Amino acid sequence: MSSVVNNVIMRCPQCGCEHEVPVYRHIDALAEPELREKVQSGELFVSTCPGCGYRSLISSPVIYRDEHLLVCLSERRLEVEGLDSLAGRWVSDVGSLIEKVKVFASGLDDVPLEFCKFVTRQELGKEVELKFLRLDGADNDIIFTYPEGGQMQMLSVGFNVYEDCRAIVGRNPAITEGLGGLVRVDREWVEHFLA
Ligand SMILES: [Zn+2]
Repeated sequence: MSSVVNNVIMRCPQCGCEHEVPVYRHIDALAEPELREKVQSGELFVSTCPGCGYRSLISSPVIYRDEHLLVCLSERRLEVEGLDSLAGRWVSDVGSLIEKVKVFASGLDDVPLEFCKFVTRQELGKEVELKFLRLDGADNDIIFTYPEGGQMQMLSVGFNVYEDCRAIVGRNPAITEGLGGLVRVDREWVEHFLA
C-alpha cells in the first residue's frame, strides 16, 4: 500500500475563489514517515486559500496506516480485513484521528490512555474533553489539553497513572477481547466498562 492523494477543487468560503487542494484518501506513514509529522501538526488537514489566506479544515474520509495502527476517519463504520496485529480504530473527526496518531507515535496505547483520561476527569471533578498532546520531561509526564473558558488548558498527569491503567486493562481480558476490527475507543467505550 502507499498513500493516495486526490487533487480536489475547493471554493474558498471567504473570497469565493477556486483552487486545487491535495486531499489524502489513504495516508501510509510507513512508506512516508514525514506524513506522520504532518498529521500530528494538523498540516495535512488544513488548506490555505491562495487568494485571501483563509484556512479551511479538510475533513474528508481517510485511512491512516502506521506500524501498529490503522485509523479510519469516516462517518460510517467500515469493515476492514487483514488488520492482524494492528490496532484498528474508527474515528469521526480529524481531532480524534490526530490524537490517535500522537498516542501511538509516542509509544502509548489508546486503551489504557482512555482509562487514564477517565481517572483524570474524576480527579478534576469536571466534565471536560481531554485530548492527549504529548509526553513531557524525563519522567514522561502525560500532557492533556482541554477547552475551558474559550481557551485551551494544559494538564500534566504522572506516567504512573497510565501504568496503573495499563495494569487494570491487562487484568481484564473482557476489555481487550472486543478489540477486533475497527473499534471506536473513546470516552463512551471506556464508560461502558465502568458502568
Ligand atoms: Zn479566499
